[in-house]
Amino acid sequence: MQSTKLHFDSALTPKGWRQDVTVSVAPDGMIASVETGRAEGVIHVSGIAVPAMPNVHSHAHQRFMLGLAECAGPGADSFWTWREAMYGFALRLSPEDLEAVAAQLYVDMLKSGFSVVGEFQYLHHQPDGTPYDEPAEMSLRCLAAAEAAGIGITILPTLYAFGGFGGQPPVPGQRRFINGADRFLRIVEALSRKAGPQTRVGISPHSLRAVTPELLREVIAALPEGAPIHIHVAEQVKEVEDCLAFSGLRPVEMLLKEFPLSDRWTAIHATHMTAAETEALARSGAIAGLCPTTEANLGDGIFPATDFATARGIIAIGSDSHITVSPAEDLRMLEYSQRLRDRTRNALAAGPGRSTGRSLYDAALKGGARSMRQPVGMIAPGYRADVTVLDADHPLLAARSQDAALDSWIFSGGNALVSDVFVAGRHLVQDRRHIHEETILRNFRNALRRLDS
Ligand SMILES: [Zn+2]
Repeated sequence: MQSTKLHFDSALTPKGWRQDVTVSVAPDGMIASVETGRAEGVIHVSGIAVPAMPNVHSHAHQRFMLGLAECAGPGADSFWTWREAMYGFALRLSPEDLEAVAAQLYVDMLKSGFSVVGEFQYLHHQPDGTPYDEPAEMSLRCLAAAEAAGIGITILPTLYAFGGFGGQPPVPGQRRFINGADRFLRIVEALSRKAGPQTRVGISPHSLRAVTPELLREVIAALPEGAPIHIHVAEQVKEVEDCLAFSGLRPVEMLLKEFPLSDRWTAIHATHMTAAETEALARSGAIAGLCPTTEANLGDGIFPATDFATARGIIAIGSDSHITVSPAEDLRMLEYSQRLRDRTRNALAAGPGRSTGRSLYDAALKGGARSMRQPVGMIAPGYRADVTVLDADHPLLAARSQDAALDSWIFSGGNALVSDVFVAGRHLVQDRRHIHEETILRNFRNALRRLDS
């Protein structure tokens, strides 16, 4: 790629909002400079440029069951009945299907303003549980999908060995997920060999139910220093009860006791915490990877975001089951959950007079970049040119600029306000259309047809 210059009417930079901004992008996709004024030969995109958002938690395969799990079952529906339905879908996906579903999902992510995805990938084996000849087959399909869509990816193959606390055997529905340390590390190695400049490789121990501390320590010892580690924790009350019954500790307590947490770790959900756990998780430097629309859809509970913020905890957001794919909607749901619980307003604004949308956006950019271990989250030299552009001509932005425009996007307009998205300076979404939209959509439709038959 050649170096390019992108010009925006306004942009959110580390120094605040700036008008009439030219961003110079080096051939490697990194930002070389950010200047005021419009030079010759720039690509002009009218609108409001903000750093694109990282999406730290994705299970791509779940995208194809959305809309199919919203009917009431014979008894009380819960996370656990939903999980049964999800396993049924997951058992049918072939490698081709996963690649097609993931590519469409990643296009949808880009069109909503995300530029990096953390893929927590636990479908490893053939439907009958036999490993593929290439044990990393399914995760490699996610890398191929990310490349086709152009999105950055932090691939997090899932370590899943057991069906419950204390090394219980897995259930038949989990047969595609299961690996011991050796085969799991072969998956990590295969992914590392294939990793391009927009890829990072980490791991995702599924949960404290699915690994033992001994197994996880063995795997971590074999990883490159600093490789990111994501784990589901304390999403469900039953998980807290099972953990207490097994160990006498709550899940977040157990995680903090067994491992030296740091910003290398992302605790996904961390919904059910005591005040002491909230404080200790914040102090550890681990990122809380929140998935507010999925957590609402699954009836998980409410994350203690105001207390976590007071303790200077770092948050990031993810679309998880992809019931919605929208940074705006996830940030909105996060804020609204606190308002509904506390009967208050502007719960997560960073202080008096500060915009709530801006406070949430800044926090999730910083935590998201850290969680993904990617050089993103700022329109500034040395960062990758991942930029989301809001359509300044949209009626909702007619008389809005700067933080008020961000608040209008997050609380009112959502995805409809995103017009253009760049990743590493590549103009992937142009006036609401992805550059490979037709091909990727055709493959997705074909996969759904195969899965329906
Ligand atoms: Zn998840």
